[in-house]
Amino acid sequence: MDNINPATGHAYGTIPRSDAQDVEAAVAAAKAAFPSWSTLPAAKRSEWLMKVANGIEARMEELALAESTDNGKPLSLARAVDIPRARDNFKFYATAILHDAYETHDMGIDGFNYTLRQPIGVAGCISPWNLPLYLFSWKIAPALAAGNTVVAKPSEVTPATAYLLSKILDEIDFPKGVLNLVHGLGAETGAAIVEHSDTAVISFTGGTATGKAISKVAAPMFKKLSLELGGKNANIIFDDCDFDEALKTSVRSSFANQGQICLCGSRIYVQRGIYEKFKEAFIERVKGLTVADPLSDEARMGAIVSEDHLNKVLSYIELAKEEGGVLLHGGHKVELEGRCKDGYFIAPTVFENLPATCRTNQEEIFGPLVTLTPFDTEEEALALANGTAYGLASTIWTTNLKVAHRMAAGIHAGIIWVNCWLLRDLRTPFGGVKQSGVGREGGFEALRFFTEPKNVCIKL
Ligand code: NDP
Repeated sequence: MDNINPATGHAYGTIPRSDAQDVEAAVAAAKAAFPSWSTLPAAKRSEWLMKVANGIEARMEELALAESTDNGKPLSLARAVDIPRARDNFKFYATAILHDAYETHDMGIDGFNYTLRQPIGVAGCISPWNLPLYLFSWKIAPALAAGNTVVAKPSEVTPATAYLLSKILDEIDFPKGVLNLVHGLGAETGAAIVEHSDTAVISFTGGTATGKAISKVAAPMFKKLSLELGGKNANIIFDDCDFDEALKTSVRSSFANQGQICLCGSRIYVQRGIYEKFKEAFIERVKGLTVADPLSDEARMGAIVSEDHLNKVLSYIELAKEEGGVLLHGGHKVELEGRCKDGYFIAPTVFENLPATCRTNQEEIFGPLVTLTPFDTEEEALALANGTAYGLASTIWTTNLKVAHRMAAGIHAGIIWVNCWLLRDLRTPFGGVKQSGVGREGGFEALRFFTEPKNVCIKL
């Protein structure tokens, strides 16, 4: 299949369209490698994961360029965030596994229990295109650290860094069959991984509709499932916030990676006392977000990942207008010159005057489109935050500790940021509620997910 560079709109490589037979071979290899990998001492598995991390470090610039070329994100972002975080994911689980411990439950003179946490077998890991290597490694690293072998599929839209990862595995002579990367279409290769009777655990990140399709197949097979799905996150800004900080970070949380981060705050609710002031200052700052060739130093925003996705976001811009939205900024394709003349670029887009219940404010757009809406009271802000089918993340801007705690407790979401956004601690649980998914990634949660607890009760 062609691999398209979204900044130029042209194919720059090809990838294999793997079928069910390829997946069969990958699962067979993973199954064959499981007995030796799962019984390797944790310290040895840790050494291997550290070698992968060092391999990523050694190819940092090449990987960053590949990620930017494949995804359209500014090279500066891939250098600063995507690739270092992918390396750190491997480092984190390489060391976490050294500090893992089992529980015991003491029954006094009657006996005691200890709980083994054993690797499950072959793990299927499927990830999306928005943070390709970063999210891929967030699954693969804990699965391997816990002692599973893996069959993993990157999005066919962004396969390049997964391919380079396979080269790193070859370079370091990573044990054969332990990590198997399969490229191809979601509905073919991805579906074959989910359907295979020997993938006992599936970790998926992607859209809610795909998550539902995967559940339909995996649930009756009683597979262990982790689903990290879509979001429609609220960014709630109270009158008493640190205005400059809220403003600066809100521009980032709206448009980082062209708004294609599941954690982006696409619904911005501002308390009425500062609404007009915030709106004006926000638009001024958004005007400074240069949409340009992702490889250029001036690019603050790059290309939308694909033509399909470009058309989807443009259709939502039209919908917002039909729903009565007032366009404050953007709302159009950006035509660039030179090598990017056929690329997929959209101006950062801001609407106001849209009801909370309209489709623009309810459906995940996953692009550079945000809405501004005023609110009056804390109760109203909470109702607005909770008023969608999603529940991934939310941001609260206030200097009132009581308000922050009450809001944090009341919002239906798996992740709450207070006076910050995307501040990352690898030990914390990551994931959503409602249509945003089931289960948690991150920290020891992920090691738990990729193991099966087995209680052993001893009578004294
Ligand atoms: P998709 O759901 O379209 O695809 C995700 C992955 O699943 C891709 O690798 C895709 O392959 C594969 N896939 C597609 N269909 C199937 C199937 N039937 N069986 C198995 N695998 C399949 O999501 P996108 O790639 O479009 O990513 C954007 C979505 O991801 C957004 O909704 C976003 O919110 C969500 N996301 C959630 C995060 C979270 O942590 N909650 C983090 C990041 C993104 P292919 O692309 O090759 O077709």
